[in-house]
Amino acid sequence: MVRRRGTYQIKIRDKQLICLFCQNDQFQHREVYLDLSPLGETVKDQLTMQSFYCTSCGNIRMFQEKNRFDHTLQKQVSIIEYSEVLKE
Ligand SMILES: [Zn+2]
Repeated sequence: MVRRRGTYQIKIRDKQLICLFCQNDQFQHREVYLDLSPLGETVKDQLTMQSFYCTSCGNIRMFQEKNRFDHTLQKQVSIIEYSEVLKE
């Protein structure tokens, strides 16, 4: 479990994440692992969800962690980008 501390602005596939309810663009982060096989079979892959809490209204958005190929960097990168918001 990776817990990022602090407040972040988030991009999903190069699109800025904005709260649907209050248009805030700052979120706190928590990583959640979900079991893919609830029937007790061997788990090969754990599904990782990144959940983001709106720092203004507390609404929660969840996104599945995935990679995409970045042609500029020539490597696999996460579709989710984090930019920490520095407190004044
Ligand atoms: Zn909000």
